[in-house]
Amino acid sequence: MRALAKAIDGLELPAVEKISESQEEDPFQVLIATLLSARTQDATTLAASTRLFKVARTPRTMGRLTVKQIERLIYPVSFYRHKARHVKATCRLLVDRFGGCVPGAMEQLLMLPGVGRKTANLVLILAFGSRRNICVDTHVHRIANRLGWVRTGMPDETEQALYAAIDGRWWPLINLYLVTWGQNVCRPLYPRCGECVLTPMCPRVGVTRVSKKRATTVITVTNREQGA
Ligand code: SF4
Repeated sequence: MRALAKAIDGLELPAVEKISESQEEDPFQVLIATLLSARTQDATTLAASTRLFKVARTPRTMGRLTVKQIERLIYPVSFYRHKARHVKATCRLLVDRFGGCVPGAMEQLLMLPGVGRKTANLVLILAFGSRRNICVDTHVHRIANRLGWVRTGMPDETEQALYAAIDGRWWPLINLYLVTWGQNVCRPLYPRCGECVLTPMCPRVGVTRVSKKRATTVITVTNREQGA
């Protein structure tokens, strides 16, 4: 984790982290951006969230939009019809049941339509400053297994295994570090092991093919580290 902390410096942040930073950790916008981000490229999530938040920034105003309007604003995120329905229903529940605020407890977040543990954990970490949660998405699941930190088949299992395997001070940072690394270096197909700062300590569990290309951004970071 210390090596990753240095190596991600200067790399592009994940979309939800950017939105969280730019919106001063507003829980509602973190929640909606995370809902939109599932199985969607970061640039698409960022653009769709920006369009949606220009029109509505609160559960009350967003809840007044029709599902069709939300669909048009968030297109082309994947499953945009499905997600538009979830956004609308989530806004309604936030207004009716939680006084128009995003709740700060896991059990209550899980009541919201379309919200699973991944989204709930990220909202708790980014918007509520929790240091007791780990958010596991596909990047975290894949890289934690490649690194041999866990041996798991599903992200929910990975979350529980990581609580046992990783020192608590790193829990809120695991998502930021591994998602950034997963988008830039330890990609799903053809990871860039030849350019990775973790190569000396990584058993590469399950990796059969690696990229032959050189990654300019990572080379820059690696050289800077070596010179330090
Ligand atoms: S060495 Fe390869 S498999 Fe291991 S973390 Fe780096 S890119 Fe991923």
